[in-house]
Amino acid sequence: MATVNTVLGTLDTAELGFTLMHEHVMVAASGIYSDYPALIGADAVARGVSRLKQAKDGGVDTLVDATTHDLGRNAPLLATVAQQAEVNVIVCTGWWLDVPRFMRGVSADQMARLFIRDVEEGFGDTGIKAGILKSAADSDGVTPELEVMARAAARAQLQTGLPLMIHSFPTGQVGRRQIAILKEEGVDLSRVKIDHSNDTTDVEYLSWILDQGCYLGLDRYPGGYVSSTARTNTLKALMDAGYTDRLCPSHDAIALHVIPEKPDGTMPTEEELTRRNPHGFLYMKNVVFPQLRDMGVSDETLDVLFVDNPRRFFEGG
Ligand SMILES: [Zn+2]
Repeated sequence: MATVNTVLGTLDTAELGFTLMHEHVMVAASGIYSDYPALIGADAVARGVSRLKQAKDGGVDTLVDATTHDLGRNAPLLATVAQQAEVNVIVCTGWWLDVPRFMRGVSADQMARLFIRDVEEGFGDTGIKAGILKSAADSDGVTPELEVMARAAARAQLQTGLPLMIHSFPTGQVGRRQIAILKEEGVDLSRVKIDHSNDTTDVEYLSWILDQGCYLGLDRYPGGYVSSTARTNTLKALMDAGYTDRLCPSHDAIALHVIPEKPDGTMPTEEELTRRNPHGFLYMKNVVFPQLRDMGVSDETLDVLFVDNPRRFFEGG
């Protein structure tokens, strides 16, 4: 039996069910939730539970939470929310883009040790273990600091066997450099998912990534750079090209984030905060699934994308 670490302990991969492979329960910055809880707004736990329950009632069984330390990961909060909403949450270790000054001379092996500890022993003294690894680069490309992070995540992948999700910037084809680093480190690319790939409609570039053996995170919906319809057309084009078994659509949605006070001193309303995506973690099911069905995609194929692919990605092999 293959298992995966969730924030509530190990889970048989057969129990993952309908899985969204790149989401966030809360995004802030390291320390914000403990030091400045007002910035997350009142009743954070209750609001998080309500959003996840809404997802569960809509048929979502599992969320992969892509929130790293520098994005304000709070493992105990995730565990509380997951337990109350009865949704499986798998949280990552690794790093996003905010490299602190004091980390700038740390070697890849030293950094990897931290990530491996998060997988084997858990975050701090919580006992909550990471179930996936993450590294990132964006429009500046793989900077020297981010290259250390990338190599550290790669080495942690080799040691732990966990899959690796990569925040990428497809407009600049940054995945080419990220994949080159992973190859140098000897990572099996079938354990790697290149994320935010539907921020481009460049099917030729995306096919190149898939031809390297990677999974592809088409995980921004409705997203900003590219229209939702264009994202769906890209997804369908890749399915038609034979890549269905390595595509992972998701939203990169955030249930709780830092709520900026408006210049007039008032706080934005829930309606203002969710205007862009009132469906939250159900946007795919509510909006995109009907469009895909109209394009001739069967329910069996949707299950491949949201059930079979996540399970195979976590199991490996
Ligand atoms: Zn994200």
